[in-house]
Amino acid sequence: MPEVSELAYTADVAAATAPIYERMKRVVPAVEWPFHAPLVHAINELKRERNAVVLAHNYQTPEIFHGVADIVGDSLALAAQATRTDADVIVLAGVHFMAETAKLLNPSKTVLIPSRNAGCSLADSITAADVRLLREAHPGVPVVAYVNTSAEVKAEVDICCTSGNAVEVVESLGAERVLFLPDEYLAKYVATRTSVEIIAWTGHCEVHERFTGAEISEFRSRFDRLTVIAHPECPPDVLAAADFVGSTARMIDFVGSEKPPRVLMVTECSMSDNVAVASPETEFVRPCNLCPHMKTVTLSGILEALRTLEPRVEIAPDLAARARLAVERMLAVKPK
Ligand code: SF4
Repeated sequence: MPEVSELAYTADVAAATAPIYERMKRVVPAVEWPFHAPLVHAINELKRERNAVVLAHNYQTPEIFHGVADIVGDSLALAAQATRTDADVIVLAGVHFMAETAKLLNPSKTVLIPSRNAGCSLADSITAADVRLLREAHPGVPVVAYVNTSAEVKAEVDICCTSGNAVEVVESLGAERVLFLPDEYLAKYVATRTSVEIIAWTGHCEVHERFTGAEISEFRSRFDRLTVIAHPECPPDVLAAADFVGSTARMIDFVGSEKPPRVLMVTECSMSDNVAVASPETEFVRPCNLCPHMKTVTLSGILEALRTLEPRVEIAPDLAARARLAVERMLAVKPK
């Protein structure tokens, strides 16, 4: 198995990876491809040897998203797809809570996270002890946790949700009020879409909380015929200024079906690059807020994880059993 230092952009590598580059040439400059191609080629070879799949979140860079990923999507799609793979090894090109979710749903498989530093400000905003205190303060009120939480937190809650199914999950409980954690802005957005009373935790995504309504107005003044689509982790003034609000998967569907001439995607900036590949008729205006955690995942990190089968995600069995229940309950909720 090659080490990163042994890889080169040979004629064979160029020929083997040419069809892959063709897919992403609009968003990856030709001058960069000789650096990515040997890694892309080695990863795809090693995946076959290991019977491995790479699951990549929508916020991964194009050379990962279009170059080595077998399954791409938002947190909900990755969680659902993780239950369907027959691979022996899952490499989660995303952040730690996503790799934990994949492990919860595939306890017998090897699940690798290519970067040990791929955390999340939302997941870090709440602990299992916080959830136990919330339950004491609100006895009998069911607890919904965004999947952007640790396995320890998931083990304390009734059900998980993603930004793609949060309203359906809240309403599936048949309760008058629910505790919703950890994202305050997603909780506020859900509260506008349901009659269920939402009691919110006050965690924020460090990427989405930086957007402002004033920034959206400024973009509208600079660009004609601009359609603004925003992720519900954004603050309320941003969502009020948007033409469409939805999860990353719904944003992609919106661009594909509506084919707006010019779009401002108010979310992590790799999303625009990845969607632009499939939507050549749309011009993307990029307000570039990067997730520093997602960007710790690299092609060389993925190759190293496949070579060494480390770092692995391990979760204590009793904790995993409780956390898995919350994720499986979410997956059983039918979309509207
Ligand atoms: S974009 Fe925000 S919610 Fe997503 S991983 Fe980064 S910090 Fe967490």
